[in-house]
Amino acid sequence: MQGSKQNDIGRIHSFQSLGTVDGPGVRTVVFMQGCPLRCICCHNPDTWDFTGGTETTVEELTARILRYRSYFGTEGGVTVSGGEPLCQAAFVTALFRRLRELGISTALDTSGYRLDDEVRALLTVTDLVLLDYKYTNAEDHLRYTGCELSRVETFLDHLQKLGKPTWLRHVLIPGYNDSAESLARLREVRDAHSCICKVELLPFRKLCLEKYRELGIPFVLENTPEMPAARAEELAKPFKL
Ligand code: SF4
Repeated sequence: MQGSKQNDIGRIHSFQSLGTVDGPGVRTVVFMQGCPLRCICCHNPDTWDFTGGTETTVEELTARILRYRSYFGTEGGVTVSGGEPLCQAAFVTALFRRLRELGISTALDTSGYRLDDEVRALLTVTDLVLLDYKYTNAEDHLRYTGCELSRVETFLDHLQKLGKPTWLRHVLIPGYNDSAESLARLREVRDAHSCICKVELLPFRKLCLEKYRELGIPFVLENTPEMPAARAEELAKPFKL
């Protein structure tokens, strides 16, 4: 079938053999190429271009992943990140289906910007969702990501309906989304969704500055200070479950 053949080809930005920061345990992380959002705190502007990256097949990617399988242990597995993996939902679905057949756990790191039949199908083969929740008010979300917050809310409500284990991820940017009010709202979001088993508050860093310079893309947060680790830890305390 031509449709399924097309679903078998995906465009990836990069492949991290083993990582420990994108989901539980030790994981292989596949970064998909292409993203329609423009988050001002984005660390991977080189993933935005839909024509960049490298084409690969589910079979090739699975073979590559299997080399690291022995490191996954009981907690680890594979995380697909980006870019925005929902833009290649059919491909990621085919990959996750294959990984599950092999007994490998699957996690999806996403902005949750889209929910349609393709994405619903992807969620049926996803064990864990790492959902970015960058701003808690609609105006800021749209201004600083280019995506309406209501889309993310719709996505999260669907995860709740499915009872899908979900981690919320929130990059703390000084002066943008680290106010007491903003974090109180984030706690409300967590409390209203029992599918959320963890909230990760990640300190804003500027390691990506050089990438922006190389690409000739202005980095809006160039003059914003990084978030001190100690303050991030303090702000994270009320989120510990
Ligand atoms: S959704 Fe992710 S990849 Fe896309 S712009 Fe935002 S942070 Fe960057």
